[in-house]
Amino acid sequence: DSPLLEVDGLHVEFRTRDGVSHAVNGVSYHVEQGETLAVLGESGSGKSVTAQAIMGIVDSPPGFVTNGAVRFRGKDLLTLPERERQAIRGQSIAMIFQDALSALNPVFPVGWQIAEMFRVHHGSSRSDARKRAIELMDRVHIPAARDRVRDYPHQFSGGMRQRIMIAMAIALDPAVLIADEPTTALDVTVQAQIMKLLRELQQDSGMGLILITHDLGVVADVADRIAVMYAGRIVEQAPVDRIYATPAHPYTRGLLRSVPRVDLKGQDLSAIAGLPPALTNIPPGCEFHPRCPAAEQLCREDRPPLITVNPGRSSACHFSAEVLNGTR
Ligand code: SF4
Ligand code: MG
Repeated sequence: DSPLLEVDGLHVEFRTRDGVSHAVNGVSYHVEQGETLAVLGESGSGKSVTAQAIMGIVDSPPGFVTNGAVRFRGKDLLTLPERERQAIRGQSIAMIFQDALSALNPVFPVGWQIAEMFRVHHGSSRSDARKRAIELMDRVHIPAARDRVRDYPHQFSGGMRQRIMIAMAIALDPAVLIADEPTTALDVTVQAQIMKLLRELQQDSGMGLILITHDLGVVADVADRIAVMYAGRIVEQAPVDRIYATPAHPYTRGLLRSVPRVDLKGQDLSAIAGLPPALTNIPPGCEFHPRCPAAEQLCREDRPPLITVNPGRSSACHFSAEVLNGTR
């Protein structure tokens, strides 16, 4: 059986005046129905570009998908005829972004914008579309939806606007929802509420959810699996509880140490020193070696492939076994 959505060996590059930026370098991941995959990484790790490739947004210069496949229920979206591809991307795969304010049209009431989804895709009547817009606003827990359906985006708080974006994204019952930093612009309390909402909607509908974030703290309670990206590659992939218990990659370990954890109260927060490499100039060997406290000569020469370290878990480090058992 083919996975619901699968990225397979994806390579994306941007050909710029400063050289070729290797944004995505052989990324493979999948999400199943009813499952939440968190894609975690610092800014510039390739997590958003991978999502943009899934949505077909990276298909013109300077961005090029140079290799790989994006399969929805076994069909490669990169080679499918345009009509079929647009139908899948318009209805079956939806995406929400960090910035709800700029994604909403300021001159139309929010209810109208949600209703348009039904009018455009299902040819619903005006009154029916409006009714369904109110239902959706209810479903994403916007208080007094019936009274607020005529309000404009600026009349809502940031968190409520993000709920409106989520309502639009789930309007057509997508099989997959991709959420790119959906809570980054919001304060911590609202972040938790939006995560809870996404989780709830996902469990009700059974959709697959891809949650892109730079913040390990926000995904702990909602994700089933985590894929950690660094310099355009996945460096570790595992079920969330196992990543938290024992990371297999020094980069994941560094990320975990930089997250405030209630269960580790009083411990120093030590963010990872240094910066990710420029994607025009990724270092040889392990991409992470200039920042890795466990690096040695082999790491500077030889790029560690992403390999299975135990069932359901993979890591791209020469010393994953030692990192896992705590000897390195
Ligand atoms: Fe660190 Fe070496 Fe592992 Fe890379 S391969 S993460 S440099 S120990
Ligand atoms: Mg991004």
